[in-house]
Amino acid sequence: MAVLPIITGQDNPVLRKKNAAVPFVSKEIKKLIKDMEDTVNAADGAGLAAPQINQSIRLCLALISGQIVPLINPEIMWRSVEKEILEEGCLSLPKIWRNIERHLGIIIQYTDVKGQPQERKLTGFDARAVQHELDHLDGVLIVDYPELKINKEESKENSVL
Ligand SMILES: [Zn+2]
Repeated sequence: MAVLPIITGQDNPVLRKKNAAVPFVSKEIKKLIKDMEDTVNAADGAGLAAPQINQSIRLCLALISGQIVPLINPEIMWRSVEKEILEEGCLSLPKIWRNIERHLGIIIQYTDVKGQPQERKLTGFDARAVQHELDHLDGVLIVDYPELKINKEESKENSVL
């Protein structure tokens, strides 16, 4: 078990860098995924992207159907027209909360930990978590989104991603 330090701060250059595709699922990548699982569980987060632990590669974990799923080189292939606004937090931006409009449904393609290509359709919280993590892979943070006003009662859940 290895819990890795999480990089914080909206101006941290590591969180703003371009991230390179993972060429193949090596032993080192599998070990990194294990450590990232330990890290996101210890932080009680719903997701974690490699740049948050100082690795500039296109790898993230996201909570999907209640399980932390590693996504290697994930890409969004389709986005629903319908969107939803909910409050989000980020492990790299402690104490910052932002109402973010996200697509309610997405279809993603990614490589799994066995090196196999996968495709999944996600909705609701699952789709939101993955959109948040994919933003990290492009150096985008929740503070980059416009401030949206929301009726507090409409905000069903807070999520730290
Ligand atoms: Zn985040």
